[in-house]
Amino acid sequence: MPAPSGRARLGIDLGGTKIAGIVLDSRGATLAEARVPAPRGDYRGTLEALAALVERLESEAGTPSRAPCSVGVGMPGSLSPATGLVRNANSHWLNGHPFGIDLARRLDRPVRIENDANCLAVSEAVDGAGSGARVVWAVILGTGVGSGIAIDGRVLTGRNGIAGEWGHGPLPAPTPDERPGPDCYCGRRGCVETWLSGPGLAADHARRHGRHGTAEAVVSAARDGDGDARKTLATHLDRLGRAAAQVVNLLDPDVIVIGGGLSRIPELIAGLPGAIAPHVFSDAFDTPVRASLHGDASGVRGAAWLWEAD
Ligand SMILES: [Zn+2]
Repeated sequence: MPAPSGRARLGIDLGGTKIAGIVLDSRGATLAEARVPAPRGDYRGTLEALAALVERLESEAGTPSRAPCSVGVGMPGSLSPATGLVRNANSHWLNGHPFGIDLARRLDRPVRIENDANCLAVSEAVDGAGSGARVVWAVILGTGVGSGIAIDGRVLTGRNGIAGEWGHGPLPAPTPDERPGPDCYCGRRGCVETWLSGPGLAADHARRHGRHGTAEAVVSAARDGDGDARKTLATHLDRLGRAAAQVVNLLDPDVIVIGGGLSRIPELIAGLPGAIAPHVFSDAFDTPVRASLHGDASGVRGAAWLWEAD
């Protein structure tokens, strides 16, 4: 069901610890926004918190009751097209529930739900770092690793609902010391996420150099001239380049947008094209790599824009 033109769009970013909401007008201006704690471990409580948040945001935005907002939701994991049940969410209390059906019923309107990486892609494609590009590949490098694809501003969900899933395949062209790789929560070993996430970077530094700390601490030490930290970051960039080049070879996006906590490391953004290029099957590689424009707000903005393209 399309959102009538001019109708306000409400987006929700359902995280593991917080739920963010926003109401955008048809030009993308913010009419209302709010943030509430997520009821951890409580599925029914999550539905009620979402309903209360929608009511509050519509009231603050002055949305007339005869024209309720369209509602889009970004969440970890995804809905299985086969069963309609949530799968792969690290907010594990959502898994196995018919979240789409339950939320639509609770809000009394259709709801569009997408993986949070897909929402990042849509947000950045519509009016962010990928604005004007046809094919946007958006990557989340944070606590977890994932990616999403937007084409002409619309999310590419895929037949099995997994388009853009990138975090849980093996690291390409592994060196002997990268095999079989760290254990991943998904049950596999050596997943891209286990290398390229913030915790993955920190764990790699600890394994290689016996230095324990956060990814931020590694970056900060590298900037201060610490040789070990510099080596860890260089290796990290090489791995990121290998993993990203696989996607470039398949999708050849017009722009690559990086979101998540590690997108705030300018050295990674600046170094990535040079790390990708040697692994691309082409004589030329000039794809721009940019940090997300909307940062943490891209999840919630992209969720609102799930209703944009009709
Ligand atoms: Zn995995």
